Amino acid sequence: MIKKLNSNAEIIEVAEKYLYGNHVRIPISIEKGEGIYVYDKDGNKYLDFVGGIAVNGLGHNHPAVVAALKERAETVLHCCNYFYNEPAVLLAQILCENSCFDKVLYANSGAEANEALIKLARKYAKDHGHPERYTILSMKNSFHGRTLGTLAATGQYKIQQYFEPIAEGFKYAEFNNLDDVKTQLSDDVAAILVEPVQGEGGVLPATKEFLQGLRDICDERGILLLFDEVQTGCGRLGTLFAYQSFGVEPDAVSMAKALGSGVPIGAIATKGDASHTLTPGTHGSTYAGNPLVTSVALATIDTLVNGGVLDNANEVGNYLKEKLEGLKKNHPSIQVVRGKGMIWGLVLDKDGHPVVDNCFKKNLLINCTAGTVLRFVPPLITTKEEVDKMIALLDEALSECNY
Ligand code: PLP
Repeated sequence: MIKKLNSNAEIIEVAEKYLYGNHVRIPISIEKGEGIYVYDKDGNKYLDFVGGIAVNGLGHNHPAVVAALKERAETVLHCCNYFYNEPAVLLAQILCENSCFDKVLYANSGAEANEALIKLARKYAKDHGHPERYTILSMKNSFHGRTLGTLAATGQYKIQQYFEPIAEGFKYAEFNNLDDVKTQLSDDVAAILVEPVQGEGGVLPATKEFLQGLRDICDERGILLLFDEVQTGCGRLGTLFAYQSFGVEPDAVSMAKALGSGVPIGAIATKGDASHTLTPGTHGSTYAGNPLVTSVALATIDTLVNGGVLDNANEVGNYLKEKLEGLKKNHPSIQVVRGKGMIWGLVLDKDGHPVVDNCFKKNLLINCTAGTVLRFVPPLITTKEEVDKMIALLDEALSECNY
């Protein structure tokens, strides 16, 4: 019989003994969630502006997600890719019918979706008579995942260190700097990979001119433009796909995080010739696209597209930006507010972690990325009243830190 654990303290004690220590965690165990609130094992309630790092787009326990999960539990969870399954097909359909893409391929996470993009780019080049093209040109300060392939694509040494030798075939250019991209382009480049907004790198949006410039370069050279929309896709920017917020179409995107509302799913969507590159035997994964995860993702995307959630993300995202801007006058440590849609960063002139800790004491969950950037990625269903509550608590936390 498993002995149940009854408090945060009991859970942390067992965790310290048995759970691998590769994450620094806030000392609570999340017991349940509801809308944009979560509760810990001791019954404390928190306003959640982390949203599972942009995963809980529909908040917690959304009825559409709960219904999909219940239905799946009573039918079939997994059947493997020897067979078709309806939710996987319907999900591909809704994603394509609401975008420029014509095919969807499933994965289990953001990193694995990006692995598929990298393989796609290399095989596409070979299929088109360019075996010499195998390099992925990505951006400095980017984040694409922690597998050996995606950490090589990630333009940050701190992610790569300890894991040398780093896989061959990756190089980096300055984000938002077309001249540097042109300098880095060599005959071996098969694709350019970019995040429309660098999330982990400190909430840095690309300019439309930069993305359009990349599009033009890729068209001239016949190479692929790949967007990593793992953090910024699925409604985060107020559009279903992040590229739609910029009006620049890539050849393929990766997605994950909010796609599954918490079940582990990733995917890529492709168009044109890129939709015929990964032929049988070249790519696949046991779980990818199984009925469990695709039925939840289908309910998620259906709610985003047809449930008014994108409109809310736009409206409340603008409101959140205004309110964050308003904090500047009392807090000289705030340098800049930047972001897009429902992902905002408040850039400080010093370490952001004391503010995160202080917010936690006030039952507000936020997060700090790139050392000095407070990141806000709340559920897309957040209301203006909830933004007001968050701002009041953040204001107090910043004051107490003398920021
Ligand atoms: N790409 C981007 C832009 C991300 O933000 C992340 C995760 O934060 C990843 C890829 C990796 O996704 P996962 O953690 O699901 O492997």
